[in-house]
Amino acid sequence: MFDVAVVGAGMAGLICAQRLQHRGYQVVVLEKSRGLGGRVATRRLQDTWADHGLRCLEDQGIFSQALVQKLFEQGVIHLWTDIIHTADGGKLQESERHPRYVAADGITAIAKFLATGLEICRGQRVQAIAPTSAQTWALTLEAADWATALTETTIAKSLVLAIPAPQAVPLLEPFANQMPDLLAAVRSVEFAPCITAIATYAPQQVKLADISWKAAGSETSDLAWIGLETSKHPESAKPVIVAQSSAQFADRHLESTDLKSVGQQLLKTAQDLMGQDLLPWLSHPEDLQVHRWRYGFVAQPIADFCLSTKQPLPLVCSGDWCGGNQLESALQSGWTAAEQTAILLQEKGIFGGDRSGSFGDLLNSLSLV
Ligand SMILES: Cc1cc2nc3c(=O)[nH]c(=O)nc-3n(C[C@H](O)[C@H](O)[C@H](O)COP(=O)(O)OP(=O)(O)OC[C@H]3O[C@@H](n4cnc5c(N)ncnc54)[C@H](O)[C@@H]3O)c2cc1C
Repeated sequence: MFDVAVVGAGMAGLICAQRLQHRGYQVVVLEKSRGLGGRVATRRLQDTWADHGLRCLEDQGIFSQALVQKLFEQGVIHLWTDIIHTADGGKLQESERHPRYVAADGITAIAKFLATGLEICRGQRVQAIAPTSAQTWALTLEAADWATALTETTIAKSLVLAIPAPQAVPLLEPFANQMPDLLAAVRSVEFAPCITAIATYAPQQVKLADISWKAAGSETSDLAWIGLETSKHPESAKPVIVAQSSAQFADRHLESTDLKSVGQQLLKTAQDLMGQDLLPWLSHPEDLQVHRWRYGFVAQPIADFCLSTKQPLPLVCSGDWCGGNQLESALQSGWTAAEQTAILLQEKGIFGGDRSGSFGDLLNSLSLV
């Protein structure tokens, strides 16, 4: 029996769980995947790795600024680049100057840091939620085939759904009569997909010393972003490129059964945009992996930083789709969801040890094991 069950170990879920645990509540996090971080994701490859979700960390507001500062102090992240290029019409142009940070071992280092000291059950997909006669939530879990399910049900006094809104809808639909406004708000959120190609090249194919850029974006083509992953960890001998598609490209190819050729198409687009002469090797990778993000980016958020209800029992919804569409809103939403959950629990006479403090204080309470 937990005070709070947090569904989802992305940025919003981890911040929310840390804050509630810091406030003295008994918290469990349930995550359907093997890894932590959700869309903050690193793909392990032979002798190297690539960040195939969040590209890098940057100061987008007070929450991400505090996180950057803390992770930098702790040596978890380092400065990657402050120049982003624009790729268009066969040329690259410098377009933005703004510091961007990455982790030496992949961007999921952020999630590992934020997970410090939390009880997290991985490989446990929450399939259904239901109130019990004891005024608690019962969560039905489906274990991934590699995970050992200790129990098929988790019981908690309150619930935080820190997952993309479209994935929350089926869990909330059985309560349409008890929480009509909340459900309508969750249903109003729209997400756009993204397809990511992770291309690895043989060292002799690519002269890294000739590449003068680290990342480039485009707002007018099928390619949204291309990053030279190798430049995040120059000691890696194997050149790796990550190319991320526009939402329109992903919409057209999301259900494709031949993802490899979709990835090839993306690399060819990148080559045309950046100049065939400049990067003749780009569309001839040694290895190509393709990842489909069905819920990649928030296209239509809600204005509030979280949604909550007391009916039938305390429940809060959180994620980057609350109050924004990027990492900053995921962090702020996770924090706000924790504060709101504490209020709902206190109204029921359930108190933690109640430690107040700022987001910075919470980060300072964490340190790498
Ligand atoms: C390709 C790509 C590039 C990006 N680049 C940037 C960038 O450069 N800058 C930026 O600010 N943002 C970027 N973003 C967006 C950023 O990654 C997200 O805003 C942020 O990570 C969202 O965090 P979250 O916690 O709200 O959701 P998520 O990261 O989606 O976390 C939700 C978690 O819930 C889990 N889950 C879902 N359903 C269940 C269930 N039923 N049971 C158990 N677990 C469940 C999921 O597995 C996941 O781990 C990018 C996103 C993508 C896809």
